[in-house]
Amino acid sequence: MEIRLNEKRALVTGGNSGIGAAIANELSKAGAKVAINYVSHPEIAEQMVNEIQAKGREAISIMADVSDSSQVEQMFSQLDTSWGGIDILINNAGIDGQKADGWETKLDDWMQVININLIGNFYCARQALKRMVGQKSGVILNTSSVHEIIAWTGHSAYTTSKAGLSMLTKTLAQEAAPYGVRVLALAPGAIKTTINQTVWNNRAGLNDLLEKIPLHRIGEPSEVAQMAVVLVSDAASYVTGRTIFVDGGMTDYPDFAHGG
Ligand code: NAD
Repeated sequence: MEIRLNEKRALVTGGNSGIGAAIANELSKAGAKVAINYVSHPEIAEQMVNEIQAKGREAISIMADVSDSSQVEQMFSQLDTSWGGIDILINNAGIDGQKADGWETKLDDWMQVININLIGNFYCARQALKRMVGQKSGVILNTSSVHEIIAWTGHSAYTTSKAGLSMLTKTLAQEAAPYGVRVLALAPGAIKTTINQTVWNNRAGLNDLLEKIPLHRIGEPSEVAQMAVVLVSDAASYVTGRTIFVDGGMTDYPDFAHGG
């Protein structure tokens, strides 16, 4: 089966780094037009656009902080102007925040994670759905995490944001289904990007992490990106309202391989 997304108009938030960048490139390879959203490092977004265009495919970059509703609105207006709308939204932008127990955390830090990971996702999904429901087609893929179901000490805002994203996905999927629009989530495990560099860059941290992964290796952004392309394509036309885990088995709780 060959997956093609020819002429589909895709937006990837936080598309100039890590998993988002891999998804943007993979969507482009499948034939989609790709809009790369960024909030920092415009030069990287621009370089990605140039590389995609050099291969004869369409790409643009759009600056917007997803936690700012007016910037999100402008980003979608820019998409309307450039391509007349959107077919695929990859809600990928996210941060894990400052590590601190709940009673120690600064409220501003906690709220920032929620504002980007959960509310920012909603701002983008809302704008996309206004368009997709009208045209009676489209797919939204939210980037959740294994931490939508696994607690993570020191990161209560992150886990809360991803758990919230799970229910946001289910509810928006139910609302949008009668219009032929699918909403689903993809939950990576440990994937090698800058977000978790301090863990995999450190021998003890890496060994500890590997113990939590049955496949006993960290995932590559491309492994998430390939699944993302499948999920937004017609190969997954009967899949909606669910989170798909791409985690090397992390949510299979490898400690139960012994004892228990
Ligand atoms: P990353 O740090 O490489 O990428 C995050 C991207 O989000 C960056 O481009 C960043 O600029 C962007 N971003 C942050 N705040 C933004 C804002 N306000 N507006 C717009 N963009 C913003 O990290 P990554 O690992 O590629 O993370 C991508 C997504 O995957 C995140 O949602 C993260 O929670 C999720 N995730 C990652 C892992 C992992 O192991 N790497 C695991 C589970 C889930």
